[in-house]
Amino acid sequence: MRILVTGGAGFIGSHLIDRLMSQGHEVICLDNFYTGNKANLLKWFSHPYFELVRHDVTDPIRLEIDQIYHLACPASPVHYQYNPVKTIKTNVMGTLNMLGLAKRVKARFLLASTSEVYGDPEIHPQVEEYRGNVNPIGIRSCYDEGKRVAETLAFDYHRQNDVEIRVARIFNTYGPRMLENDGRVVSNFVAQALKGKPVTIYGDGSQTRSFCYVSDLVEGLMRLMNGEHIGPVNLGNPEEYTILQLAQTVQEMVNPDSELRFEPLPQDDPRRRKPDITRARSWLDWQPTVPLREGLKSTIEDFRTRMNTETTENPLHVVSSPNA
Ligand code: NAD
Ligand code: UDP
Repeated sequence: MRILVTGGAGFIGSHLIDRLMSQGHEVICLDNFYTGNKANLLKWFSHPYFELVRHDVTDPIRLEIDQIYHLACPASPVHYQYNPVKTIKTNVMGTLNMLGLAKRVKARFLLASTSEVYGDPEIHPQVEEYRGNVNPIGIRSCYDEGKRVAETLAFDYHRQNDVEIRVARIFNTYGPRMLENDGRVVSNFVAQALKGKPVTIYGDGSQTRSFCYVSDLVEGLMRLMNGEHIGPVNLGNPEEYTILQLAQTVQEMVNPDSELRFEPLPQDDPRRRKPDITRARSWLDWQPTVPLREGLKSTIEDFRTRMNTETTENPLHVVSSPNA
């Protein structure tokens, strides 16, 4: 098949492309390199089945493809809050453009939605029927309301135009290739501990998250795309940890002498998050297989290697400025 991956130069997208390429598909990656980088895809550059297009999804594009994995959108609060208007444009206009493309060429379209559509959840664990508790005017709204509109667009294109859609609600995912300056909790803790800097815990660290290793997530996305169910489907690891527990685990694995530093909790930071994955289990026969410590080990190794080689040797590893 010819498969389009938007946001394919990013963290999850590049792992997805590795899997699709190894299965022999033709892959087109669209990315504006805001948080993605070419280094993630270097190994495919000379492959005849791979094409990289620098393109912003807020602009329309014409391509002939069979499937679209629509991942283009910064995922870290630090990056999506840097230019919130651009984040909304990416989620709304970008998704509209990709759904329009799917409609025109009759491609199947998978939306990388998020657990953030549940906001600060009042039910626990979160099931797909839960409609969420989202602040429409907070600093996270550009992302979580943006993704809610993206889901609405997907379902309306499905009902109105028969576009074949798949909607994945992705919970916190981590692994190799996260940016050192990504700002999300796993990459922050690992980079800080490796550099001997204080590990920054926001609030008292009692808030919880559930961390899914990237290979498990990619497997779930591909099963959803190629299965019969449109979703939404939660994809995440139901093992729940407090942020303090995560900090202590990283501290123990990287550097027991790391200092744990408590800093203010950002506005609207969800208190608890854990997916109910009953749907994914029964619809996709999917569940995570990589335990936290094992996933952290590979992530720490990757960060260690990159930090040792990247400073001067890798000119491709940059975060560009977002354009308005
Ligand atoms: P990432 O920031 O590493 O990747 C996003 C990619 O999209 C980057 O390569 C970036 O350059 C590109 N991009 C951003 N705006 C774009 C635009 N306007 N046009 C073209 N390309 C653009 O993030 P990720 O962790 O790989 O997340 C991928 C997707 O999965 C996102 O849609 C995100 O919302 C979703 N998701 C991720 C997580 C997670 O924990 N990683 C959780 C929930 C949802
Ligand atoms: N967090 C933290 N220290 C950091 C980065 C994040 O304590 O250096 C906390 C953050 O406040 C949140 C949790 O870790 O409670 C997960 O944050 P992340 O940005 O990774 O994802 P999200 O909040 O979108 O789930």
